[in-house]
Amino acid sequence: MIAVLKNTATKEQVKNLVKWFEDKGLKVNESQGDYCMVLGLIGDTTQLDIDMLRSLDIIESVTRVSEPFKQANRKFHPEDTIVDVGGVKIGGGNFCVIAGPCSVENEEQILSCARAVKEAGATILRGGAFKPRTSPYDFQGLHEEGIRLLLEAKKETGLPICSEIMSPEQIPIFEDVDFLQVGARNMQNFDLLKALGKTGKPVLLKRGLSATIKELLMSAEYIMSEGNPNVILCERGIRTYETYTRNTFDVSAISVLKQITHLPVVGDPSHATGKSSLIKPMSMAAVVSGADALEIEVHTCPEKALSDAAQQLTPAQFTEVMEAIDKARSIL
Ligand code: PEP
Ligand code: MN
Repeated sequence: MIAVLKNTATKEQVKNLVKWFEDKGLKVNESQGDYCMVLGLIGDTTQLDIDMLRSLDIIESVTRVSEPFKQANRKFHPEDTIVDVGGVKIGGGNFCVIAGPCSVENEEQILSCARAVKEAGATILRGGAFKPRTSPYDFQGLHEEGIRLLLEAKKETGLPICSEIMSPEQIPIFEDVDFLQVGARNMQNFDLLKALGKTGKPVLLKRGLSATIKELLMSAEYIMSEGNPNVILCERGIRTYETYTRNTFDVSAISVLKQITHLPVVGDPSHATGKSSLIKPMSMAAVVSGADALEIEVHTCPEKALSDAAQQLTPAQFTEVMEAIDKARSIL
């Protein structure tokens, strides 16, 4: 349920009303907008008398929220959420590009990739140290050593780092990692989501291979309900009957998410298409659809990459894509 307060409500009145709701066992989410304050009520609201609430002096309106996602709902929090990732802001008009190789492979590779993406204008470095591969015989990542190399690249370039975490037990290893990625295959790893909810760290939550938009938001809810508001959603393509591309880029999901949630939304054209030749047009499409950031795979030598070779851009191609992204942003 949400209660919109009149802008004449005093601080004292708001405090008393919030306490009254809390005494009834409800969790109250306060969101101060430019013109009014919105109270989001979570819990068993069937006990409340809507007509009585509407008659209160300080209340403008009261509405029941039928969607199962509450804290991620834009009705609860009309303003865009801005998440700070190691000093880089995402959301609320702050745009950024997260770029780097699919996997961290060795020192020379991650350092050269980090320098190249920074030079082209990316402001967050990505790189997988724990890789969720379809085959157990494929490269699984460098694990702790991969995180150590990412931290070295961060030290040299100053770029905050983003890397995929696969289980709650790995949280201590990620202590100095700025942005924890939950991959598509782990979108419904509820124990992981709950554990990340307790860390307070920025989480990049990728949409599952066959997850609906509502399921993605319910996974975000798992993180937020544990007290972590720093969730960023990612559309990375979904499984359809089409086989020409690796997945089908559901660009409309970006626009839908921007309408129904206040959380920032990232577009990942690399995993969505699996083809380096499609990254430029799909990056532009994601930007025009409202994406707050893009995640793009870049490798200094894609043909030698140990994972996702076909979709990674060379630094020269990435520079071209960055120019195209700027052009797309200029028409917004
Ligand atoms: C990745 O970012 O390298 C990755 C494995 O992504 P996804 O979980 O979207 O497949
Ligand atoms: Mn990848």
